[in-house]
Amino acid sequence: MKISVIGTGYVGLVTGTCLAETGNEVVCVDINEEKVQKMRNGEVPIYEPHLDVLFERNIKAGRLRFSTSLEEGLNHGEIIFLALPTPDDGDGSADLQYVLGVSEQIGKMITEYKVIVDKSTVPVGTAEKVYKIIKENAKCDFDVVSNPEFLREGFAVDDFLKPERIVIGSSSERATELMQKLYKPFVRSGNPIIIMDEKSAELTKYAANSFLATKITFMNEIANYCEKVGADVDKVRIGIGTDSRIGKRFLFPGIGYGGSCFPKDVKALYKSGKESQYDFKILDAVIKVNDNQKIALLPKIKKYFNNDLSNKKFAVWGLAFKPETDDIREAPSLYLIDELLKEGSRIRAFDPEAMDNVAKKYKNKIDLTESMYDALENADALIICTEWSIFRTPDYNKIKNTLSCPVIFDGRNLYDIKDMDREEISYFSIGRKEV
Ligand code: NAD
Repeated sequence: MKISVIGTGYVGLVTGTCLAETGNEVVCVDINEEKVQKMRNGEVPIYEPHLDVLFERNIKAGRLRFSTSLEEGLNHGEIIFLALPTPDDGDGSADLQYVLGVSEQIGKMITEYKVIVDKSTVPVGTAEKVYKIIKENAKCDFDVVSNPEFLREGFAVDDFLKPERIVIGSSSERATELMQKLYKPFVRSGNPIIIMDEKSAELTKYAANSFLATKITFMNEIANYCEKVGADVDKVRIGIGTDSRIGKRFLFPGIGYGGSCFPKDVKALYKSGKESQYDFKILDAVIKVNDNQKIALLPKIKKYFNNDLSNKKFAVWGLAFKPETDDIREAPSLYLIDELLKEGSRIRAFDPEAMDNVAKKYKNKIDLTESMYDALENADALIICTEWSIFRTPDYNKIKNTLSCPVIFDGRNLYDIKDMDREEISYFSIGRKEV
């Protein structure tokens, strides 16, 4: 089939590449000329495991190409995916300017039947808005489908190729049939393609992300309470996770959720609720608790250094909002670093993939180091913000010999309390005993 993807970011590029992998001819359009040039030169502009192999293979086979021209994209594809940004517009609502702006242009440009598929995460009612905007100018038939994306950064290729489910919101039989045909190769193992109306599909995405953010946040509150009463959150986590109604996943406590999705999606659902005179009290609490959790290590650090962090030097391991991505949007690390800079501290930081993005944000305000151990040079403490695998079994002697005093503040509970005791490292984590 002929497919176009408008917006070639984390979602658009993975979507386009994976659809090319099953034999479709794909054109990915992006407004960012530099990005398009990079991709034309064979460079993957983001870090996403396993994407490079598929990217290269499909470009070579002539099934995947890139353009800055929306018109070229619209002429090429029968199915047009919108994978455009829907950031927080400043007051928590989803900013729809990209989706609606492109929709307006689509209406003016299409000359034959197209299925416009909204893959961006958008509030209930957006498909209807997109339909109306296109209809104002369109001289041909078209359908608008809501097809929210559930891929996770770091596992995006696998998630797209083997989705647990595909949600299609559509009231058109013709569009639904085309979408089912397109997705058939991805559900050979029997996972469902769930067909529903557009509004329910739009809400499914927000409900899923808000539920997961709530699960994380609930566990973080339990962890904070563990610290007050001397319980161990690791024990509680295993104790409750073995109940199949609760499940083991998404129960790890830490310094809060970040990224390009959970923070903005929880806020957008809360705001959408308000607009429909519905007060999502639970989401209000999730947002507030998570904002505090991002800097949950700060009081521990302050207490250890007698409330004086001026001229203290901190090594920070992990800057991306989670492992296996270079994405730093809403990363808890950045919130903590900002607080430490305000206190007059200096930062030496290392991340396996996110340093270019961090360098753009901080310029010379923090030092970025070549290796995780370089970050420790003359630092007064080590702070861990992201649970990259390479941090899990470090050389404790190197840590002790390089830090000016052996203390770790661990926002992701990477180490065993017993090991820290034995290594004589002062250790502060989340929801567990201090060593
Ligand atoms: P992104 O910022 O990585 O990519 C968006 C791309 O769209 C950018 O490359 C940008 O240059 C391009 N763009 C902006 N305006 C354009 C225009 N007028 N024409 C063409 N291109 C344009 O965003 P993303 O992370 O891929 O997210 C896209 C959508 O998917 C969002 O709604 C997001 O909530 C949703 N989503 C994201 C994820 C994720 O893990 N990142 C997962 C599921 C859903």
